Amino acid sequence: MLEGPTIGVLALQGDVREHLAALTAAGARAVAVRRERELAEVDGLVLPGGESTTIDRLLRTFELREPLRERIAGGLPVYGSCAGMVLLADRVLDGAPDQRTLGGLDITVRRNAFGRQVESWEEDLPVEGVTDGGHDVRAVFIRAPWVERAGEGVRVLARVGSGPAAGRIVAVRSGDLLATSFHPEITGDDRVHRYFVGLVRDRVRGRVREERRG
Ligand code: GLN
Repeated sequence: MLEGPTIGVLALQGDVREHLAALTAAGARAVAVRRERELAEVDGLVLPGGESTTIDRLLRTFELREPLRERIAGGLPVYGSCAGMVLLADRVLDGAPDQRTLGGLDITVRRNAFGRQVESWEEDLPVEGVTDGGHDVRAVFIRAPWVERAGEGVRVLARVGSGPAAGRIVAVRSGDLLATSFHPEITGDDRVHRYFVGLVRDRVRGRVREERRG
């Protein structure tokens, strides 16, 4: 069997363990990333749920912000869930005054959007590319952001189906950047992680082919 790609989980704050477990179940070699040299070794990275303002602060303290921005600019596949979605967004509404994001994904997110309106929300949702032909994903929103605006090159993979947030965009993909407002890592359903592992695997294979050709 082909060994899975190496996928890191940014391990500064948040539900790191759950993502490591879901990635392992999905066939990746999952590793925690806290240092620049650990970041250098991964084929893909997950930004976990947690608190985006805290992760933002720790990224600067651990001197990971610039190396990570460089890797994202260089095409590193990244999956951000909840706080991770905020970190990937180019623009944030209702952020803390000095909050910065890593950016890369051409979306505007509204932070804590579900928090103000409905606190916490759960719903079974179809997610393009993930649930095709199968049952819906249990989407758990915990003080979650939603995507207020998505740029032209961004594919909308899921929207809320009912309730006060009906129609809001909650899963997107642009190139090798993937983001969800919800937390598939806590539901025991690893299909979103499988989707991301597949994306990373395709990227790694493409790279190997290019190297052979070169
Ligand atoms: N409200 C958090 C933030 O802004 C996200 C919450 C979560 O990740 N569950 O970062």
